[in-house]
Amino acid sequence: MEPDVLENLERLQEVADEIDRLESRRQAAREERDRLQEALEGAQGELSRREERAHALDIERRKRELVIKEEKDRMARVKGRMGEVKTSREYQAVIAEIGSAKQNVTENEAVLAQELQDLEALTAQVAEARAQVEALQRDLAEASGVLDAVVAETEQGIADMKDRENRYLAQLPREVVDRYRLIRTRRGGLAVVEARAEACTACNMRIPPQAYIEVVRRTRVVQCPNCHRILVPPREEAPAG
Ligand SMILES: [Zn+2]
Repeated sequence: MEPDVLENLERLQEVADEIDRLESRRQAAREERDRLQEALEGAQGELSRREERAHALDIERRKRELVIKEEKDRMARVKGRMGEVKTSREYQAVIAEIGSAKQNVTENEAVLAQELQDLEALTAQVAEARAQVEALQRDLAEASGVLDAVVAETEQGIADMKDRENRYLAQLPREVVDRYRLIRTRRGGLAVVEARAEACTACNMRIPPQAYIEVVRRTRVVQCPNCHRILVPPREEAPAG
């Protein structure tokens, strides 16, 4: 066996681990940015809903003020006709109309008072939602710089590591590369593990003594009899380099 096959495999696994680490860091940064973005969008939605409610209530308030004004005008007009009243029937009609206008004014003023109170509460809620939106906009703006930098940095790191991975792969026999890739796919990314004290450090399965000696001496690519990962000698016993 080429003397550096196992070393290349070890380095390949280290590079793969580093790529996984960088990818999960990049993912975490993206998720954090999405989370902040969603929180902001949620707050913006709430602000719009409150603004719409306040706007609708304000329209109601204006309509009601107009109704009150019209009823008061009607009352004034009817009162002005008092002088022209000739019969008691006409008089009764005028009194009834004034009474009805007065009642309308009283009722609408009571509703208006409630609407003004609601509008005040709603205005406070709008201000609160707006403050929330502004706080989240600041959070997002502050975090974006950091998160974008993390994404850019991890992307660069991943690209560098992939170059290195390709260099190691190019130095390995095709058959070893295929085996490495197959194990990596089947074993959650971890294809190369140390053998230590005659056992696989990934699954703890004992390795037959002869195979263990071959691992330590680097005579061939030995796979764990249980999890099929490629076994490399314990780090501290590995030759320097
Ligand atoms: Zn194993």
